[in-house]
Amino acid sequence: MSKTSISRRLFLAGAATAVTLPAMPRVFAQAAAPATPAGPFTLPQLGYAFNALEPHIDAMTMEIHSQRHHGAFITNLNNFAKDNGVLGSTPIPKLLAEWQQLPEATRMGAKNSLGGHANHSMFWQIMTPGGAKAPEGDLKAAIDRDLGGFDKMKADFNGVGGRVFGSGWVFVTVTKDGKLALAAKPNQDTPLMDGQMVLFGNDVWEHAYYLKYQNRRPEYLANWWNVANWSKIGERYAAAKTGRLAI
Ligand code: MN
Repeated sequence: MSKTSISRRLFLAGAATAVTLPAMPRVFAQAAAPATPAGPFTLPQLGYAFNALEPHIDAMTMEIHSQRHHGAFITNLNNFAKDNGVLGSTPIPKLLAEWQQLPEATRMGAKNSLGGHANHSMFWQIMTPGGAKAPEGDLKAAIDRDLGGFDKMKADFNGVGGRVFGSGWVFVTVTKDGKLALAAKPNQDTPLMDGQMVLFGNDVWEHAYYLKYQNRRPEYLANWWNVANWSKIGERYAAAKTGRLAI
């Protein structure tokens, strides 16, 4: 056997090893779920199946939105909480109302993730495949008094949500006296940052509707009322009037 032949065989063996063996662990590493750090923040359960809000909100959107988008806020918060214990030991509305006092190095990240966690925790609660189809009782009376009635409230809410430029939210806020108002916020900001309470809100980030509606945000806003949970929103209204509504 010539020296050239041996060198060629070694080269081929080496090349084969280099191409195949190191590649496999990388493939498995990509497939594995990212490690979720243990911490004080946990991802809330929806209370209904991912496909329960079909056809108005599709199952894949609900799964990705609730598990991955909201999940990222939980991961971030648990990482921030390692160096800042106050995050896990202080009520979220208080943290958001006083967010400018958070440690400077992680202030914006913590504010965004706290807002994202609060907004989405509220959002999953106030949707349902069943429940009351319209406001009732005290809540209906407040909507009639402060927002011009159910139909006008929906039209104005859709208008405010449609005009949010880029990513953000549209809300109905409530004072301790039970007075209602519309509000828009950019990014993951929330009226909790202004010391207000949130009765309900809708997510107008593209991730909330793009798979089904693409650029048709007005159609998403119009259809979203079909999954609003008026029983739960009524409970939130009663809690707000007695100062018990947190997120
Ligand atoms: Mn969202």
